[in-house]
Amino acid sequence: MLAYQHAYHAGNFADVHKHLTLFAVTRHLLRKESPVTYIDTHAGRGLYPLDGVETQKLKEYQNGVAPLWAARERLQDGDELLTGWLTALERCQKGRSRLERYPGSPWWLAEALRPQDRLSLFELHPGEYRHLEEGDLPNARRIHGDGLAGLTRLLPVGTPRLCVLIDPSYERKAEYLEVAETLQKVVRKARHAVVVIWYPLLPAGRHETLLERLRDAGIRKLWRSEIRLSDGTDATHGMQGSGVVILNPPWGLGDELDASLARLVPLWGGSARHRASWWVGE
Ligand code: SAM
Repeated sequence: MLAYQHAYHAGNFADVHKHLTLFAVTRHLLRKESPVTYIDTHAGRGLYPLDGVETQKLKEYQNGVAPLWAARERLQDGDELLTGWLTALERCQKGRSRLERYPGSPWWLAEALRPQDRLSLFELHPGEYRHLEEGDLPNARRIHGDGLAGLTRLLPVGTPRLCVLIDPSYERKAEYLEVAETLQKVVRKARHAVVVIWYPLLPAGRHETLLERLRDAGIRKLWRSEIRLSDGTDATHGMQGSGVVILNPPWGLGDELDASLARLVPLWGGSARHRASWWVGE
């Protein structure tokens, strides 16, 4: 089953949560010269024109990136992370003053690439892969195939550092456990890898299975960040929030993201909340 197409949701609050987190991670990794391998297991198209037919159908960006874009001058004041992220978003518009394109994870990772780094992008959906292949990502290796199996095949990588984004569509319930099992394999072969996992907060609460499995497996050094748009009392359908868990987050990253997200989240409604917590194990 491959029905999901990210273009319907491009630029929504969950994308901003995930891509700001990814940007914060790469910013920290860029502080050292040693090479990094980046692997994006579920790449999507890489770039989304906001006037695209699919994106216009739900217009989720209107309560996602659009209010940030409108408030960008104020948001950049005194916040280095948001300044960096919004400046990159401006660069993505290629000189246009309007917000016309929203960049996906391949774009954000490609932005961080230096000559010594590597980037592998996996995408399974044939149509989505075609878009990814056509995109302007000159130094990225694009692979039409399963991202979780592909990730484990690439381990151990040939660079001293590894950074992975795991961002499935969770169309199948089994994906939560597959992600947890894959993370266990990554930890065995690349103990110091920085891994960012995105998950939806749905009424069924399936993400708890993923997190419990990680804890039961003894995986330590996890930072968890969740945004809820409403208090959940009346929202019984659809996505109530967005979650990100990071394995081996760079030092200081949690506090930095916490501060920036506290400034952003009110733009998505008065009852929107961000909560972060650490899991360091015993
Ligand atoms: N990471 C992207 C971003 O942030 O811009 C969005 C990815 S979207 C949530 C999930 C993507 O995974 C979809 O494009 C879907 O076609 C793709 N996909 C689904 N199953 C996959 C699999 N087993 N391996 C690789 N890609 C898969």
